[in-house]
Amino acid sequence: MRGPLLILIVWLATNSSSRVRAEEPWVATRTMGLFEVRSEFALEDVESQRIMTQIEGLQTDVLTHLNLTAGEQSVEVNLFRSQSTYRAFLSSRVPEGMNRPALFVQGTDYGRVYVYRRRGFDTDLRHECTHAVLHNALPYVPMWIDEGLAEYFEPPREQRSAGNPHLASLRRSIFFGWKPNLARLEQAENLSDMGAAEYREAWAWAHFLLNGPADARQVLSDYLYDISEGETAGSFQTRLLERVPDAERQLVNHIRLWR
Ligand SMILES: [Zn+2]
Repeated sequence: MRGPLLILIVWLATNSSSRVRAEEPWVATRTMGLFEVRSEFALEDVESQRIMTQIEGLQTDVLTHLNLTAGEQSVEVNLFRSQSTYRAFLSSRVPEGMNRPALFVQGTDYGRVYVYRRRGFDTDLRHECTHAVLHNALPYVPMWIDEGLAEYFEPPREQRSAGNPHLASLRRSIFFGWKPNLARLEQAENLSDMGAAEYREAWAWAHFLLNGPADARQVLSDYLYDISEGETAGSFQTRLLERVPDAERQLVNHIRLWR
């Protein structure tokens, strides 16, 4: 009887260890403020450490620039070594997101970020982590503010205000007569309502509201405060035009002249 029992025990041990490997592919974990990072690739190299430091700084920047307080829950950040392991992991959990290059999902428990390593993936990571910090602090975030801020905070800090490719692109469009339309942008409710033009305009408003006149910045801060308190925030455009009546003209000049 000893022989078969031994074989059974060995089989169980082998089976359970392979199961653990299949479900827990992580080789590195980090806790940084809100973020619980788990990664399929090592994070000790200089480049990874630089990216991790940026993510930690991003959380502070988003909260302080917007005058927000972090919520109690943490944010799970999942880093994958390739697109194939990313897709395999998402296939059973968030199949509708498998074809997106990066993903933030707000669960009822906490938020989750999914990003895979590729050239420039740190931009995706900062973008999705911005969504995560916003949704951690607020019960909901209007689509155009959510994407505008994620676009604004996605470059490294030193390139944030003047190094975003949206700046040169929008200046060219302004030269050819581009005008903002905040009322229309505010109607966006789903990602499908946001094309490249909407992302760029949302970025421009975020840039103006954070770097433009103090009154505009205050309107954004008050608006987000009302949302954080569970109040009906209403139309942002109406509130902005009360304080900054020529906001759309000022936005154009702000982008045109920004250095
Ligand atoms: Zn986004």
